[in-house]
Formats: sequence, C-alpha cells, structure tokens
Amino acid sequence: MTETLLAVPPVVNDVFASVVARNPHEPEFQQAVHEVLVSIAPVLEAHPEFVESGIVERLVEPERQIIFRVPWVDDAGRLHVNRGFRVQFSSVLGPYKGGLRFHPSVNLSIVKFLGFEQIFKNALTGQGIGGGKGGSDFDPHGRSDAEIMRFCQSFMNELYRHLGEHTDVPAGDIGVGAREIGYLFGQYRKITNRHESGMFTGKGVQWGGAEVRTEATGYGAVFFAEEMLAVRGESLEGKRIAVSGSGNVAIYAIAKAWQLGALPVTASDSSGYIVDDAGIDVDLLRQLKEVERVRISEYAARRSSARFVEGARPWEVAVDIALPSATQNELDIDDATALIANGVRAVAEGANMPTTPGAVAAFQDAGVLFGPGKAANAGGVATSALEMSQNASRQRWSFDDSEAKLRQIMKNVHDSAFDAAARYGYAGDYVVGANSAGFERVAHAMLAQGVI
Ligand code: GLU
Repeated sequence: MTETLLAVPPVVNDVFASVVARNPHEPEFQQAVHEVLVSIAPVLEAHPEFVESGIVERLVEPERQIIFRVPWVDDAGRLHVNRGFRVQFSSVLGPYKGGLRFHPSVNLSIVKFLGFEQIFKNALTGQGIGGGKGGSDFDPHGRSDAEIMRFCQSFMNELYRHLGEHTDVPAGDIGVGAREIGYLFGQYRKITNRHESGMFTGKGVQWGGAEVRTEATGYGAVFFAEEMLAVRGESLEGKRIAVSGSGNVAIYAIAKAWQLGALPVTASDSSGYIVDDAGIDVDLLRQLKEVERVRISEYAARRSSARFVEGARPWEVAVDIALPSATQNELDIDDATALIANGVRAVAEGANMPTTPGAVAAFQDAGVLFGPGKAANAGGVATSALEMSQNASRQRWSFDDSEAKLRQIMKNVHDSAFDAAARYGYAGDYVVGANSAGFERVAHAMLAQGVI
C-alpha cells in the first residue's frame, strides 16, 4: 500500500504518506485509510474548509488507544496472558461505538482498521454514534464456558473504566456473541455497581437486548443487495447466492435470502466451504455452529444434497450474488475473476473489508454492483443504536416493528450512498458514495466543534 495516489488533492497523498510512516506495521489499517482517502478526494475538492481545518489529519489519528494485559487461568490451572485493545477513534457524532473481536489474528492494525471503518459506517446510518473497536488475540475455540467467563471478567476488569453509555458502547464481533456479552456485561455491573443497560449492545432480549439485533447485520446485507438490484429493475427472486462464513452474519443473511425468494447455496469456515444445491438448511447450520460448535464439514456429513470442499472458498461456485460474510481480505482478485466469469451480478459485504482492493476494482470494471461493508453491513450497528434508544427510554419494541425500522435504515443508507456518488460524478460507485456520505457528516461536525 505504498503506491502514489493520482489525481487527488495533495493533502490526500501527504496524509497517506504520513499514515504509512507512522504506522509501518499496520497493513490493514493502511488499506482501510487508503480506500477512504481516495474515495473522498472529490469531497475535499468541493470543501476546501475541510482541508484548511485539518479534518483528514485528525481523523486518521484515533482520539485514544488503550492496550492492556489480560491474564487468566485455564481449567487445568495454567496461566495465560492475552493482549486487550480498545481504539476510541471518533466521538464527534456520539459515544464511541463498535464491537469487540476475540480471535488470534487480532492486533493493533486489525483493531484500527475496524475502528476507522466504523466512524464512516456509523455516520452513514444517520444515528448519533461515534466510531471505535476493540478486542483481544484470545482464541475462544475449544475453551470451556468457565474459561470464557474468566477471560471475559479479566478483560472487563481493565476495560470498564473506559466504557459507559455516554462514553463508549461496545458490542459483539467475531468471537464475541451472546455468551461473551453476558459475561462482559455482568462483570461491568459488578465492578461499577450500576445496571447501566446502554453501556453494551447485543444483550440478551430478556435483559435489555433489542429484538432483531442478532439478525440485523445479515438481514441488513440482504436488504442492501435488494436495494442495489432494484435500481437496475431486478429482484432477489430466484437468485443463487454464495455466502461465506457461518457465524452470526452469514446465518442470518442466509435466512433472509430464503425469505426473499433467493436460493443461498454456500457457507464456509476456516477449514473450507459447503455447497448445497437444494439450498442451505439454516436450522442445521445453526445447530452445528452455535450449539455443537463443530467444523462445517459436518454439514455435508449430515445432508445428502451437500458436499464439503476442503481448503477452498465458495467463490468458485456459479452464483448471481455473493455475500462475503466471514472476515477481512477473504475475496481476492482471482476469486473476483472467477465470480465475474460465472456471471455474478451483485456483491454486498456482510463482513468488514472482506474484498481486496484489486477485487473491488475488478467488480466495478466489470459493471458488477458492489456494496462495501460500510454501507451493506451497517444494519448491525444501526440496530445497536436502536437498542441504545430503547435502553434510554426503558421501552421494548416488537420484532416486526424493529425489522421495519432496520429495513428503512438500510434503504436510507443505500440512498445516501447512491446520491452522494451521483453528486460527486461517480454515479453507481457505492464505495465513493458510502465513504463520501459518511465523511461529509463527520467533517461538518468536526468543523463545528473546533480543533479537538
Ligand atoms: N461489530 C459490528 C460491526 O462491525 C457491530 C458493532 C456494534 O453493533 O456496535 O459493525
């Protein structure tokens, strides 16, 4: 990510060069910054006041970064020390908001790329939420419930002092689901002696959680794909869909694809993918991944219409729509070339930055509709903001009402990105559109609030 940028205001090249120099060992963070800086060049041309007040220089530097030790003892009495992170990127639009990821690949670069993306994603939802992200290099796989609980408690023993419903509101991400959120929330309550519902989202619906939060990211990605297709006069009806991943996002993307008349045929994990021409059985997938927590090959062992392909990704399967919903950089230029050759019509990112820059360019050059994660997966965090609203007002909204709100938010997110792209002369480019619309909102707020 060191190539020179062309045809952009000098500030873009200067800021990117300084980001590379100051953060030399953070390739994912550099990748995320590069994409945003290139996309917002037309906004900076149109708004010299953003350049003069150093908006971009300030945005690429997190407001605060917290790195801490997380010691814990396993069931056999052995001591482990993990590293914990919380990067509080921007609070200009609201409290820092973004998930926690527990995965061995987590490092400062990963947390910063996620936190940086979150600023613009959250702005694009139109809600009052800033951007942040956190997590740990802890690997929950194969750990007992008691070990998970002890880890979460140790993690919160440090992080609690930096959180609060008006300060910083975490949620889940990879490796952090209902179980972990329960333990993390419980420890916060114990330490602070406050039942502060709005300090965490993704809570269980019995104790302050919002209906549809669990489903929201996956549902939202499918709604976003539906909106993109509608612009071209197409629908999801009868479309074959490849989904990667088998976590929360993938499962509910598959479920919503079925409901809207499409045929989802794949799912994956780090060992390989399954293809099921009869369509993915959501109940079986949930049972295997959320209850039994086993490898995806087990799906093919239990269902005759499916086969397991070891060590590969689902992008070699012929489909109309691809929903990468696993993790960053999981769909590269070769995958994009294969999807395009097989006639893919639309790609919507359920995960954060799953498509490499070369693959994004290949889709756009081929005229494939491409919905970047900042827009396409914004339904999760948008529903988190709905959870915060319900907590603040001590209300509970029904599932149907909440889903209708999510549906409307995804339409607004789509339209904001679509309109911004057209305004800046990049009609149909949702990457430029999402970044520009999100950035505009953040930049205006930063300008109004002074040099902070
Ligand atoms: N981790 C999710 C994301 O990437 C959700 C964050 C949240 O709900 O705060 O947007």
